[in-house]
Amino acid sequence: MTDSIYDDLEVPEVVNASGTKTRIGGSLIRPEAADAMRRAADGFARISDLQARASTLISEATGSEAGYVCSGASACLTLAAAAAIAGDDLAAMARLPDTEGLADEIVVPRTHRSGYDHAYRVAGARVVDVGTNDAHLGSGAENTEPWELEAAITDETAAVAYLATPTARPPLETVVELAHEAGVPVIVDAAAELPPVENLRRFTEAGADLVAFSGGKAIRGPQSTGILAGRADLVRSVALQHLDTHAAEAVWDPPASLIDPEHLAGVPRQGVGRGMKVGKEELVGLVVALESFLAEDHETVAADWRARAEHTANRLDAHPALSTRVTSGEQPTVAPEVVVTLAEDAAARSCVDLVRALRAENPRVFVGADALHSGEFTVNPMCLDDDQAEYVCERIEALVSS
Ligand SMILES: *Cc1c(COP(=O)(O)O)cnc(C)c1O
Repeated sequence: MTDSIYDDLEVPEVVNASGTKTRIGGSLIRPEAADAMRRAADGFARISDLQARASTLISEATGSEAGYVCSGASACLTLAAAAAIAGDDLAAMARLPDTEGLADEIVVPRTHRSGYDHAYRVAGARVVDVGTNDAHLGSGAENTEPWELEAAITDETAAVAYLATPTARPPLETVVELAHEAGVPVIVDAAAELPPVENLRRFTEAGADLVAFSGGKAIRGPQSTGILAGRADLVRSVALQHLDTHAAEAVWDPPASLIDPEHLAGVPRQGVGRGMKVGKEELVGLVVALESFLAEDHETVAADWRARAEHTANRLDAHPALSTRVTSGEQPTVAPEVVVTLAEDAAARSCVDLVRALRAENPRVFVGADALHSGEFTVNPMCLDDDQAEYVCERIEALVSS
């Protein structure tokens, strides 16, 4: 917490006890990736060549035919929708997000709807959701029956979207089978599904056509990166709608592994993804971070998280107004989290007041606030070192007592 650039700028620093949250800066970029970005800033490279290099690494890491990097998993979803709608049609690319005359529906099981649906709509897609929320009624109903999905896929369908979570239903394999029978690609949002590292391959192996991962969560690459892994023809369409294509046709010579001009009527115009660019520094940083993520000893990282969570839980438990339990560390939180229950009658303030007061500290302390309605908050160990974990405990104890 010393020598902080945020101090120099007089911006309050944050101690992150809530996991990889974009609004407080995501995760800490790996030092070797930050060094690589620094070195990338010393010279020029053609962005399409860097994308081709990233594509090779992404396909090795995921088992996909090709890969691409854009400015976050959310941007990847927009580009995935754009590719599903436009394919290799340059006129369609030029028209997006206007989709008149194009199949533009993205079919989504209802329980897979999320705030990130907006990403699909940015490309011009219309989200069509299918099914109910009935599974919790105990009636034997699935939320989305396969026949409901099948009936929703029509000539207007550009893609089926799937939000990957450990409990997602129907199984991805079932959705892929239905979509592929109708000749429609499946886009998987797996932004936060790492670790486990095996998930890099899992969705491609299940037949998904494009899979999006965040580069700035557990991979710990630059915050403004996301990875798309998928079919070579769809990745080509993504590249054409994302790269700066202000190029003279006579000398346009993109890397053949990414864009084979033979499939194209000419040079496309600036596409719908042009505003989601990544620079040479981000591309280099992501490549180095992904290599490190692949080489990492994931068991040691997980053991570190568990030890920090258990130590934090034991310490907070000693306070008379606090009781804790540690979650299993399965998705969606990835790391084991300390769930802290505040006995408000024994504390100096309510749970909401405590969480607000922690955020007003200097440095600010952000704990997880998704269960305030039950008088609970969470401490996530993923983005804390041991000193920061001590500081978090100390501030919680002080604010609960006074
Ligand atoms: C984080 C997240 C995203 C967005 O990822 P960015 O890399 O921040 O754009 C999309 N979908 C889900 C499910 C996420 O958790």
